[in-house]
Amino acid sequence: MKAAPESQKRLLDLAELDSVIDRLAHRRRTLPELAEIDELAKRLARLATQVIEAETEAGDLAREQTKAESDVDTVRARAERDQKRLDSGAVTSPRDLASLQSEIGSLQRRQGDLEEVVLEIMERREAADTKVRDLVAQRDEVASARAAAEDRRDAAFAEIDKEAADTQGRRTAVAAEIPADLLALYTKLKDQYAVGAAMLRHGRCQGCKVALSIAEMNAIKAAPHDEVLRCEECRRILVRTAESGL
Ligand SMILES: [Zn+2]
Repeated sequence: MKAAPESQKRLLDLAELDSVIDRLAHRRRTLPELAEIDELAKRLARLATQVIEAETEAGDLAREQTKAESDVDTVRARAERDQKRLDSGAVTSPRDLASLQSEIGSLQRRQGDLEEVVLEIMERREAADTKVRDLVAQRDEVASARAAAEDRRDAAFAEIDKEAADTQGRRTAVAAEIPADLLALYTKLKDQYAVGAAMLRHGRCQGCKVALSIAEMNAIKAAPHDEVLRCEECRRILVRTAESGL
């Protein structure tokens, strides 16, 4: 392939711009914020589940407490009713009086036991409510950390995208100056090797950093200026400049 030396040199500008574009794309893909957001999202999902579990437990205990309190009320009402009967003087038979007093006694013991149950449930409920509050606070903290990381990510994206758009604009202008067949070869090699063209600098290919042999340098010296050369080592287009050492 033949191409004017100036067109070949423009390939080096193109390669430089392409490497900037590639670096920006890499930076966009590997922003630390992306891993951070992933991690925070996982923690948030775990905390959301834990909050639901803790809220369910607290709700169950609240219902349990209501039930236990109503048991206390029932027993107390029965004891009060019995006490009223006793106080009314309507019961006169000693056997009935003894039976009534015994029932009141056992109802009072039963009430005491049930009140213990209520206290025990209240303690567990208090612990469950504290756990809900702690988990909700943790969840809110992680949610705001994630929002902050997303803001940092978006700011970094905006900066990268602006630089990429500027670079892409310059690249389009440079590419327009390069003949279609040379540009097609460059594009094919770039797709294959990530970098399509490299400078021959002081007898060394800047693409693969391999020094050319004397025979290779002599062949290059003998080649016409508009001949498109390729590095024997890395197959990239090898561009001659004043620094090539020819
Ligand atoms: Zn090379």
